[in-house]
Amino acid sequence: MRHTFALFALLFVTASALGQAPKPALRAGAFAQDITPEKFPISVNGGFADRKATAANDPLHARCLVLDDGSVKLAIVVVDSCMIPKELLDAAKALAEKKTGIPAANMLISATHTHTAPSVAGVFGSEPDAAYVKFLTEKIAVGIEKAFKQLAPAKAAWAVGTEPNQVFNRRWKMKADVVNTDPFGGTTDKVKMNPGVQNPGLLEPAGPTDPSVTVLSLRTADDKPLALFANYSLHYVGDIPALSADYFGVFADVVGQKLKAGPGFVGMLSNGTSGDVNNINFKDAAPKFKPGERSRLVAEAVADAAMKALEKAEYRSDVKLNSGGLPLELAVRKPTVEDVKRAEGILEKAKDRELRGPDETYARETVLMAKYPDVVRIELQVLRVGDLAIAAIPCEVFTEIGLSIKKNSPLKPTCVVSLANGYFGYLPTADQHKLGGYETWRARSSFLGVKSADEIEKSLGVLLKLVAK
Ligand SMILES: [Zn+2]
Repeated sequence: MRHTFALFALLFVTASALGQAPKPALRAGAFAQDITPEKFPISVNGGFADRKATAANDPLHARCLVLDDGSVKLAIVVVDSCMIPKELLDAAKALAEKKTGIPAANMLISATHTHTAPSVAGVFGSEPDAAYVKFLTEKIAVGIEKAFKQLAPAKAAWAVGTEPNQVFNRRWKMKADVVNTDPFGGTTDKVKMNPGVQNPGLLEPAGPTDPSVTVLSLRTADDKPLALFANYSLHYVGDIPALSADYFGVFADVVGQKLKAGPGFVGMLSNGTSGDVNNINFKDAAPKFKPGERSRLVAEAVADAAMKALEKAEYRSDVKLNSGGLPLELAVRKPTVEDVKRAEGILEKAKDRELRGPDETYARETVLMAKYPDVVRIELQVLRVGDLAIAAIPCEVFTEIGLSIKKNSPLKPTCVVSLANGYFGYLPTADQHKLGGYETWRARSSFLGVKSADEIEKSLGVLLKLVAK
């Protein structure tokens, strides 16, 4: 087992190293830092082909929350971006650590996975916008610093609500006579992603959904709403033109309105484990919506679930914080020499024009993947706020993995934030790899070894146990 040595050599847990800590007295500060680019047009992540946005429909934010119990400080940041590489986030954390003294290891920064934000990661046809990479790095650090400066006595409550009607597994097993082609010339896929609404070939979804809406709510000492962090396992909605924070941004506004919060309030919605779950009901006919209507409907539903969950929650100021981290080395699914030869042949035929269709896109990805290292190092993380555990994985994690982590965690509730502290593509289970489909197709969007989900879940289990002590 590749990770065993790293586990015992490098794992750290903040609070256990401090010995006898004083009685915790919570302070909290929050700030929503605007990260809307100032220069257009700009590349947008999230599609096969690159798209250019010429304006912002609604502002993008890095939503920052800083917590301090008198001995441990944490920062939680949710960024309106599709995916953010580890290097960018490590640089932002180092800048913020210098300004605030909060250890970089105690900062959890995740991307919402809005598909209508500037590109800071190379995936398919979109390459990072260098100027925006620098801009975003600095803005995230500034946002953490501003939240840190707002620190004031606070109370926290946590709860789990449920909204089962907005999540649908998007991978479907298809009838035996349906042929599923992949972009490598194969026809062995057993499942199809986004098979089309009421496709006559539909058999059943290939995985579950997770209806949980996990909520961490902060109030000032005199009980005014300060911030609300939520976690829901839905890929995105995608009905607002670029640039847009998608339903994540609408949720932040709506939840503030429902709480009758003042101007400094920060709502934040992190992405749970939604690698295989979206907002499309493939079984039934789809109602027609105008742009933005569906985002509002979903945001309202998730915010209502959060409000309902908080009805009986108890706010307290004696909240203990903790943080743990664990580096993990994972194998990369590299293409074979034959794979690369086939891909080069496809690219040769398209060399004088723009790439077209999945076969050419994946041929380019194959050539790029051949240059990847054999092993990558990721960081797993768990933050603890009272009884609530927030686990972080730098992938687009399949829902069943999140459900299993929550079920086996010694801390209740536990939620899992995807696309956190880096970007290492989709994380399907080994069984889902056998079924094939888009999320398993080798590219910069899916490249970890087939056993990675098992290794990540096992290691997070160890980390959760340590942070629970
Ligand atoms: Zn995705």
